[in-house]
Amino acid sequence: MTRTDSPASDPAEAALRALPGVGPRVCEKLARLGIFRIDHLLLHLPRAYEDRTRVISLDALRPNVRCMVEGIVQDARVEFYRGRRLRVKLADDSSGMLELCFMRFSPFQQEQLVPGARVRCFGEVKLWRRTLRMFHPEYELVAPGTSEHAAASLTPVYPATEGLAQISLRKLIRRALEWAEAHPAQLEHPAWEDLFRKQGLPGFTEALRRLHEPEVGLDMETLLSESDPARQRLIVEELAAYHLSFIRLRSRVEQRQADSFPGGDELIRQFLERLPFQLTQAQERVIEEIRQDLTRNHPMMRLLQGDVGSGKTIVALVAALCVTASDAQVAVMAPTELLAEQHYRSFWEWLLPLNIPVAFLSSSQTGKQRAEEKARIRSHRARIVIGTHALIQEDVSFDRLGLLIIDEQHRFGVHQRLALRRKGEGKETHPHQLIMTATPIPRSLAMTFYADLDASILDEMPPGRKPVKTAVMAEDRRDELMERIREACREGRQAYWVCTLVEESEALQCEAAESTWQRLCQALPELEVGLVHGRMKAPDKDRVMQRFKSGEVQLLVATTVIEVGVDVPNASLMVVENAERLGLAQLHQLRGRVGRSSEQSSCVLLYKSPLSENARTRIQIMRETTDGFEIAQRDLHLRGPGQLLGVRQAGEMVFRVADLSRDEQQLKRVQRIAQDFIRKDPEAVEPIMERWLGDSRRLGSV
Ligand code: ADP
Ligand code: MG
Repeated sequence: MTRTDSPASDPAEAALRALPGVGPRVCEKLARLGIFRIDHLLLHLPRAYEDRTRVISLDALRPNVRCMVEGIVQDARVEFYRGRRLRVKLADDSSGMLELCFMRFSPFQQEQLVPGARVRCFGEVKLWRRTLRMFHPEYELVAPGTSEHAAASLTPVYPATEGLAQISLRKLIRRALEWAEAHPAQLEHPAWEDLFRKQGLPGFTEALRRLHEPEVGLDMETLLSESDPARQRLIVEELAAYHLSFIRLRSRVEQRQADSFPGGDELIRQFLERLPFQLTQAQERVIEEIRQDLTRNHPMMRLLQGDVGSGKTIVALVAALCVTASDAQVAVMAPTELLAEQHYRSFWEWLLPLNIPVAFLSSSQTGKQRAEEKARIRSHRARIVIGTHALIQEDVSFDRLGLLIIDEQHRFGVHQRLALRRKGEGKETHPHQLIMTATPIPRSLAMTFYADLDASILDEMPPGRKPVKTAVMAEDRRDELMERIREACREGRQAYWVCTLVEESEALQCEAAESTWQRLCQALPELEVGLVHGRMKAPDKDRVMQRFKSGEVQLLVATTVIEVGVDVPNASLMVVENAERLGLAQLHQLRGRVGRSSEQSSCVLLYKSPLSENARTRIQIMRETTDGFEIAQRDLHLRGPGQLLGVRQAGEMVFRVADLSRDEQQLKRVQRIAQDFIRKDPEAVEPIMERWLGDSRRLGSV
């Protein structure tokens, strides 16, 4: 049931519409704030508080504090100082004085603010020209002796939107709270509430009451921080809702049928015999885990995490062999054409001796080529199909797809992963899925957004690898690098020179790469310098990559098209231009193109000054560590989860209250509550998920 399908059938949505003051126009404005249901409105938490519970006496005023005061107008005059302004002097029983200052004012205000009038104002006190003043305070005239009518609780300040001012929001939320308290059964599920109580956390409505209408005396800072129990309750609930949606997704998958693939021993033996190296223990372990999954009658959903260069491709290949051994097909999806092409070549070379036909699908193929490949796939003449997302976008029909391998999943993003999963819906049997990523997923993210997947980790590098040495250099010293490149190439090694221009157009990026290429050709006439960028035709790109792979091209100038997956082990030096513009994950991926042999590799990060604080931190982290897990963890802190989840558009993956980089210590509770709840009452999960994931339902799509 989604919002667009059947709006009226959702009681929490109906409750919002039934709230006095909520008509279609207000609804539209609320939608802009991500509010579609009454509980969304209740979860629109204050971003600050104001203390209007007490009147501060004028002699106790301090600059830069927002507060409420009351006094009698002593003097009011219009002055001309860079325009007209109304200055009002206020005094109370104390010895203090305050001046109110209005740069815009109406005749009506002038009539109100006359000597002898008693006013109560709220605003920020400023010290200006040695006088304490409030500029444009909110004010009202009061009768003497009304001071006991100060607000009963702290006043919330909400994130607002155009046309929906503070006052209206406060009113609406106050009404929503009244509604919530009058209808406890609608928002509070007893078993759910119980789980929170056991964790020492307040009930849902109780938490909301505390945050929207905090009692006098509560500390405003604490209320806004994650240490407040009411906020904690909501944080834990939000994370638990995400966790729940993913475990539910998982249990649905477990009910599906899949073909089992117990065979493949002989093929694997033949393949491994030809490999010029031994598998690492980690590779063997992970292959075993995957093979176990493949023997089951339910689709495997496995996430393989392994740092750049840890040897994921071989693992994927062995998994593919298990499936082809039983005559089923395998699809391998790569995020870039370059990588798809590379996989195609290496799979083809490895599989030719085993007589396993491989097909290739990419959007840069001609219509005729594509049609031929599709026909081979449909008729089962191709067993393994490599491609970019053309593989899923176009209508490619497999004769019998047994396994889907997604390489470098982080580049596809969480939404695409889930979209992909929906593709097979309604079929009798489903393919197994192996999802590979080199961007390690911090535990907190793994628990919330990947809880539907089993995880395998390649935590061992092939033997003899040395961590890449990373140096940082201002870009005006780039000429000093020429000697280093010469030297590397003289020793028979190869180098990358990566041109980046992040936010600007691809065209500009390619132009920059071209001119860098020309300059490097001139500076290094004795070297064979190649160029590859995104605007080149696929066959041209491929030709250059092949020449680089064979060693014919010694220095490859490239845009970030080579960021993921490219594997040329003989390359041992990488120069990255404008490193300050790249994110940590991207830098780590790029750097992972070197250090793929037992040779010592190095990476030089060139930067343009001045460095922003954030860029300096990123570059520092790159210098300190080559450990992808650590880099991902620190990236999460620097950029938040959206980027790591591959969600590009801002606001697409914002939590209402939680913050994964801050709330990690809550995860134990989250897991506990979610698992207990799904065990107790799996049906009741829906409204909880609606509450939190409602407007990002496409995410859970369960
Ligand atoms: P990634 O995990 O980044 O995808 P690749 O699968 O591209 O890594 O492997 C990196 C390089 O290491 C490749 O050249 C691959 O042939 C090589 N390799 C993989 N496994 C081993 C191993 N067990 N011993 C030695 N080299 C290996
Ligand atoms: Mg790879």
